[in-house]
Amino acid sequence: MDKRDYYEVLEVPKTATAEEIKKAYRKKAIQYHPDKNPGDKEAEEKFKEAAEAYEVLSDPQKRARYDQYGFAGMGGAGGFSGGGMSMEDIFSHFGDIFEGAGFDLGDFFGGGSRSRGPRVRRGSDMRVKVHLTLEEIATGCEKKIKVRKLVQCKDCNGSGSADGRTETCPTCKGSGRVVRQQRGIFGMMQVQSECDTCGGEGTIIKNKCPKCGGQGVIRDEEIIPITIPAGVAGGMQLTIPGKGNAAPRGGVPGDLLVLIEEEEHKDFVRQESDLIYNLLLDMPTAVLGGQVQIPTLTGDVKITITPGTQPGKVLRMRGKGLPRIDQYGRNYGVGDLLINVGVYIPEKLNKDERKLIEQLQNSPNIVPGAADKKNFFRNLFGI
Ligand SMILES: [Zn+2]
Ligand SMILES: [Zn+2]
Repeated sequence: MDKRDYYEVLEVPKTATAEEIKKAYRKKAIQYHPDKNPGDKEAEEKFKEAAEAYEVLSDPQKRARYDQYGFAGMGGAGGFSGGGMSMEDIFSHFGDIFEGAGFDLGDFFGGGSRSRGPRVRRGSDMRVKVHLTLEEIATGCEKKIKVRKLVQCKDCNGSGSADGRTETCPTCKGSGRVVRQQRGIFGMMQVQSECDTCGGEGTIIKNKCPKCGGQGVIRDEEIIPITIPAGVAGGMQLTIPGKGNAAPRGGVPGDLLVLIEEEEHKDFVRQESDLIYNLLLDMPTAVLGGQVQIPTLTGDVKITITPGTQPGKVLRMRGKGLPRIDQYGRNYGVGDLLINVGVYIPEKLNKDERKLIEQLQNSPNIVPGAADKKNFFRNLFGI
């Protein structure tokens, strides 16, 4: 079974409050409770799936991580795995879940007095990846992404009906639920379940749209423009509400989840909002000073190397990094470009070069003194 979005599992919007999530989970826990669905493997899977979704969405920290990074944010290569959750773990939540909810065992085992409305279908979320260069991340950009997904059928405007008419389901009288008797651990009990005739929707279509076969959706390509804010990073996930798969017959469409992937840059390594550039100076420039050209994301610039620049020195160009971005996608400030300075010591010399270096070898300012040694290592390694 493919892993479904946690919000989809609990059938709540991304904006659901903690109380709404709790309530949604209660419903699922009752609906798929193993005592109500003895021997039903699918119900058991759904029961576990709901517990896993609740485990994440009920914890503000885990929820925030999931919102931002999806399953990737849940740790481990395969993401968070509810398979590791035992039934005991799941039941241990129940004291908290049902506390103060006015539930008693009768409700729990399908007492029948409680009924929920017809089912509102929600389209599934879709995940896509976008690859961005550091230049694109620096400025933010627009991307047009072609996705193949379920879109509303134009012939029937998504209703699934050829003549635009729907009728109240005769089996469940529009409630989407039917009540039946079932033998359980406490004897006969009434069990509510989804109406088979209408699939829980409460309405049926007699004259189905021939294009979509009554589904109200068809598979098609759509080009979706996506605005990428400046400063995003690989692994982040943007949510575009309502751009996922359309739902059958006028339900709520799912979301499009855009996973950011960052392309390697030929000059820079990114460290959060800072960029790092490695500059290898030739020996004379390090000793004598001079001007060198270095790249930035907005073009090459010349910087001045002061005479006596040591290897290991880090030069900082303020504001030449990437924009910082907060969890709401707003920018605040810009990082720096850090230039790591190395000095190239040649490994091969011709005769003339060798002679020049040999002349320098015993010259008083070339050989380091005790204080020079101390300063050099302190500056480089802090010891
Ligand atoms: Zn149609
Ligand atoms: Zn029905």
